[in-house]
Amino acid sequence: MLVKTHVISSIVLSELIFIPILISGLIPYNPIIVITFLTFLIFGSILPDIDEPNSTISKILPSFISSFINFIFGHRGFTHNIFGILIMPVIFTFLFSLYFENYYVIYVAILSGYTYHILGDLVTYAGIKSFWGFNEDISRLKFLGSFLVGSSKEVYIYTFLTIFQMILILSILVLDSSLLFL
Ligand SMILES: [Zn+2]
Repeated sequence: MLVKTHVISSIVLSELIFIPILISGLIPYNPIIVITFLTFLIFGSILPDIDEPNSTISKILPSFISSFINFIFGHRGFTHNIFGILIMPVIFTFLFSLYFENYYVIYVAILSGYTYHILGDLVTYAGIKSFWGFNEDISRLKFLGSFLVGSSKEVYIYTFLTIFQMILILSILVLDSSLLFL
């Protein structure tokens, strides 16, 4: 998936989970927490591609990190499977916790974004090696009919999610503007 599709799909999926929880009052609404969550959600949603030196995340972080990971593990290797989901959010939450409070929010946000990224790559034709390190089998989810990264099908999905996001924001604005993030 392209970086913009990873970002918008992570935001929409998180909203579908957290907006009902916020409306139900299970978690009190706190704009600082929401902004923190969204920021690290986006970070988590692009983090797995740290194994690709030309990716957005590799341009944000020091380049030696992605070069090292790509050299050792290759693209869609260690960072793109169950082990990556378990380990990478823990490492980066620890690093961010040195500078930020709310590390539990940061962890859930990075973990969510990271997991959505892996699910996103699962529906692409290239797929992922779910159990990388143990076997080289490629996993693909076919419910969307696997598509090539950057293909017109991905553009349709991105456009649909963007329109859905705009409708969601408008609905919140009309129904309860106190739930808007800013
Ligand atoms: Zn990826």
